[in-house]
Amino acid sequence: TRREGFSSIPNVKWDEIGGHDLLRQEFEDHIIGRIKYADDYKEFGVDLEAGFLLYGPPGCGKTLIAKAVANEAGANFIHIQGPELLNKYVGESELAIRTLFSRARTCAPCILFLDEVDALTTKRGKEGGWIVERLLNQLLVELDGAEQRQGVFVIGATNRPDVMDPAVLRPGRLGKLLYVPLPSPDERGLILKALARKKPIDDSVDLCALGRMEACENLSGADLAALMSEAALAAAKEKRTSGASTIKISHFKPALIKTSPSVSDEQ
Ligand code: ATP
Repeated sequence: TRREGFSSIPNVKWDEIGGHDLLRQEFEDHIIGRIKYADDYKEFGVDLEAGFLLYGPPGCGKTLIAKAVANEAGANFIHIQGPELLNKYVGESELAIRTLFSRARTCAPCILFLDEVDALTTKRGKEGGWIVERLLNQLLVELDGAEQRQGVFVIGATNRPDVMDPAVLRPGRLGKLLYVPLPSPDERGLILKALARKKPIDDSVDLCALGRMEACENLSGADLAALMSEAALAAAKEKRTSGASTIKISHFKPALIKTSPSVSDEQ
């Protein structure tokens, strides 16, 4: 269970994530290397963007990636939901933001993950009114204090980058925008393989071929995880009647019928 706003080192490893190799490389250079080889970065004067925005459809691995970055870097991880911060501390949300960043600094190196960050950063003068405006200003103050931000890396995530105030996305704030797309047919195979690591998949099942099937079109990583669970459930049930000991393609077939894309084409 996750304790809102508290830090810990997540246990998500990169090999649990299918695809996203380019994103991994970006984070290796910008965050992981900077934490692991701080002296070298200093010696050579490497000065890279420390704020990121992961954007794209739901269920494609934004949270997983942020956790894996923290794990690889051996850094603490603080997970905050934008809307919760907004609603739980009405009238005190500015203080909540200050407290959050100061907590992140005390446990640096730290990845501060702001999920649904659009809730805190809607364009000024639009929905949300003055509370969001004050919150946004406080967030900008914290993000601009780059000097004191040493060791704190902020990763925002959103499905709606279009509603965000562009001020947040300037260099030095959440200046590096990275798109996390729906997986391609080959990436679906890689995700299925990653999801299968601790499951007794039958040797006869070709997960790459499965990922390329038309029935998997438009499935997100989260949909593929649901597919995998359905297949595992079908196999576990069959064990009771016929003693099945592995997950076979015959278990994936009914699971495919039950699984449909959670993200529509337009999203
Ligand atoms: P949201 O926008 O809804 O917060 P998200 O992009 O943060 O979505 P995650 O929470 O990272 O998505 O993914 C949800 C679940 O889907 C993960 O816990 C995992 O089981 C599965 N998943 C998504 N993408 C991948 C991937 N690339 N490799 C392996 N599993 C994945």
